[in-house]
Amino acid sequence: MGAPNAELIPEAELAELYGQPAEGRYDYAATEGNPQLIDQIVAYQARLSRHIDPERVLVTTGGMQGLDIAFKLMVDPGDLVIVESPTYTNGIATALSYQGQILEAPVDDDGLVVEALPGLVEAAGKIPKVIYVIPNFQNPSGRTMSEARRLKLIELAEHWDAFIIDDDPYGALRFAGENVPGFDELSPENHRIVSVRTFSKVLAPGLRVGWIELDPALRTLAISAKQSMDTCTNAPLQQLVADYLAQGRLESHLETLRSVYAERKQAMVQALQRTFDDQVETTDPEGGFFLWLTLRGRYAKINTEELFPLALEFGVAYIPGPAFADSGAFTDALRLCFATSTPARIELGVQRLHDALEAMLKR
Ligand code: PMP
Repeated sequence: MGAPNAELIPEAELAELYGQPAEGRYDYAATEGNPQLIDQIVAYQARLSRHIDPERVLVTTGGMQGLDIAFKLMVDPGDLVIVESPTYTNGIATALSYQGQILEAPVDDDGLVVEALPGLVEAAGKIPKVIYVIPNFQNPSGRTMSEARRLKLIELAEHWDAFIIDDDPYGALRFAGENVPGFDELSPENHRIVSVRTFSKVLAPGLRVGWIELDPALRTLAISAKQSMDTCTNAPLQQLVADYLAQGRLESHLETLRSVYAERKQAMVQALQRTFDDQVETTDPEGGFFLWLTLRGRYAKINTEELFPLALEFGVAYIPGPAFADSGAFTDALRLCFATSTPARIELGVQRLHDALEAMLKR
């Protein structure tokens, strides 16, 4: 799964902060979020060189609720939603839950192939309402969208009067290469851009604390939507995250995560190269949790969904490629997560994947 494991969650620090008295900790919070948390989110983002207006922030119950609210506000039945292919399974599921019509667009090493969109839209016979992208260390491919493509996408969204949902849970986890400016940096306070963020990948997923940034007029609608979903995000845990951020602890934690994940990614890429040579092709992410593996050569005809139960018997798990496309494409691909396991376990996992593939060939 795409989750940090217990050893990478600052449990003792969180427990200590949770034990401190805080006024109103157990009361309802405002639907838009605890104001201390909103201030701390703004300060935390400023330390990452992102300058956001607190009037654009709405605290959400994890990134998933941010996506749910964004799609709920924007998608009416039959509206065209462009997604990267492959993309995050729950992103597709949320768009479908509001009866969006999914249009899958190709992704290469520079992210979404924006140049392909006009042709795809023409073939679909209608203009898109939403373009859903995961610009940094994408789930599942680990790829990052180039600045030129981001700029082009902003232009196209304007041309079509479409929204961009910029889902970025992994951006702060860059461990190599150069930062690419975000959509909001390239086009500040653009009312067509909704940014979806979460503390799940940088702190702990079980907290269920995230936020969205959107145009203040849209935010008013988003607050109404959230009111009928859960009234407010869990108040004690909002306070906990606010206190953790106020103490400036997240930055040093991020440093730790980046160096641990850099090492793990390296271990995975090297083990894959050593074990498979050119019989698989993989992405080489500069951050995040995931890499994408495509079977080649002697393995090219193996279906990763069919392989899955056998892989489990060999003691290794992955997510089969078709989970990341509504069309069921990518039967020859799979997602690996390098974030959760130690380098030694990663090497063992790669060996087991190899053994499972060899056993599959003999069937
Ligand atoms: N978007 C993407 C791309 C993700 O990978 C995830 C988590 N797997 C989410 C959103 C949801 O985040 P959360 O766990 O905070 O709901």
